[in-house]
Amino acid sequence: MKIAAVVTDIEGTTSSIGFVHDVLFPYALKHIGNFVREHGEERDVMRVLVRLSENTGIALHKIEDIIKLLQRWIREDSKDTELKALEGMVWEKGYKQGIFQAHVYEDVPEVLQRWQQEERNLYVYSSGSIKSQQLFFRFSECGDMRLLFSGYFDTTIGPKREVKSFINLAEAIALPPETIMFISDVKEELDAAAYAGFRTTWVLRPEETTLDPVKLAKKSEHAIVTSFDQIKLD
Ligand SMILES: [Mg+2]
Repeated sequence: MKIAAVVTDIEGTTSSIGFVHDVLFPYALKHIGNFVREHGEERDVMRVLVRLSENTGIALHKIEDIIKLLQRWIREDSKDTELKALEGMVWEKGYKQGIFQAHVYEDVPEVLQRWQQEERNLYVYSSGSIKSQQLFFRFSECGDMRLLFSGYFDTTIGPKREVKSFINLAEAIALPPETIMFISDVKEELDAAAYAGFRTTWVLRPEETTLDPVKLAKKSEHAIVTSFDQIKLD
């Protein structure tokens, strides 16, 4: 059956894990305190802080306690939705000031363009907030890539290792799961997608993993590649 849509992960898949962990996370850790202090009264920021306060029981006026929690979560690599929203806002400032550009593996843009020309819809599914995904591809090393994608999904649709999230995702893009290819570097995410009926490709970038693609290819239910130009859709 023709693959009508491709859903891709970012970290470790289109892009290096290093950019997120060595550039984005330290930047958020350093700047989130002042960002909340300076912008906490603005509507978008306030809305997130209110939800955070409700979820954690920390009173809204105890802003320094909230900041400490946010910093701890960043260190723990928490996927908390409110944290992700605030991080996106902090990164926006960094991208716009040209402090960093998002890393994208060089094989990726050309393959995405080809798929788009073949009239397949391309989507992103990442634990970073939708806003931070859009920033990522707007300010990428390969230029503004936003026009390649028809839509973005984050953990508001569900955690990436749960089958239900992929059922939700297929519903959201209104296609049968077996016509959608999910691409990721994390086996548990691919397992969840496959269980939901998606086609799956496991990206094992030699820069990122010590797993042996040749050995794994023999026993994995997921197609295995080391770069995007090896991915076969039909
Ligand atoms: Mg990943």
